[in-house]
Amino acid sequence: MFIIGGIQKTSLVDFPGKVAAVVFTQGCNFRCGYCHNPGLITAKQICHSEPDSEFVLKEDFLSFLKTRIGKLDGVVISGGEPTLQSGLYDFIKEIKQMNFAVKLDTNGTNPDVVKKLLNDDMLKYIAMDIKAPLEKYPQIVNISSLSEGEELRERVDLILKNIQESINLITNSKIDYEFRTTVVKSQLSFDDFDKIGQIIKGAKRYYLQKFVPSNILDKNLINEETYSEKEFETLCQNLKKHIEFVDYR
Ligand code: SF4
Repeated sequence: MFIIGGIQKTSLVDFPGKVAAVVFTQGCNFRCGYCHNPGLITAKQICHSEPDSEFVLKEDFLSFLKTRIGKLDGVVISGGEPTLQSGLYDFIKEIKQMNFAVKLDTNGTNPDVVKKLLNDDMLKYIAMDIKAPLEKYPQIVNISSLSEGEELRERVDLILKNIQESINLITNSKIDYEFRTTVVKSQLSFDDFDKIGQIIKGAKRYYLQKFVPSNILDKNLINEETYSEKEFETLCQNLKKHIEFVDYR
């Protein structure tokens, strides 16, 4: 299974140093209020017979990609959460057979998938979201909207273990990578960023991303703000004691 919710034919900004197409997979296991792709969150079923289906068939994307050999450098696989797609490995294999570099965007909840892709040299670049200090994850990604009671507690424990494992895999990998955090001022304090700095201590690259209140999942966040330029500069400076390169965008 590999469900594509949408594509962007060309991007100059999503794959550092490369001109790339972007594939957005359908379905996510988080419900971040600031999510800019709310239409991609639910794992809808693809319907091949609908003429105006919003979904792009994998085969159609690969045919399109063939026409871009020599014109594009790579493909970004974003989401949704791409590691939820059982056909991810084979999809990447087909892209690589056309000699395109692959960048994966992930929320880090499936370290086994990340590990296999890294071990088999399937990726050129990986970008992982760090949503918050670990103890704040349930609140920021709204896990409680997905389960409750004992099941919720077990789910949270597993998610946090998986996040930590993905961080370790990525920081110890030989490929280029970045961690990044979307910054809603009311959600994350300066102290929270120090905690994040400690969980990705020694990482090569970390970006703080300004929250932009448009087309977001949780309309209650529409009046929320991000930090000022000056505050971002201070945050970056503080984080440099943990991480080699820190910037905001
Ligand atoms: S921001 Fe990313 S991880 Fe969060 S709900 Fe949206 S697609 Fe999922």
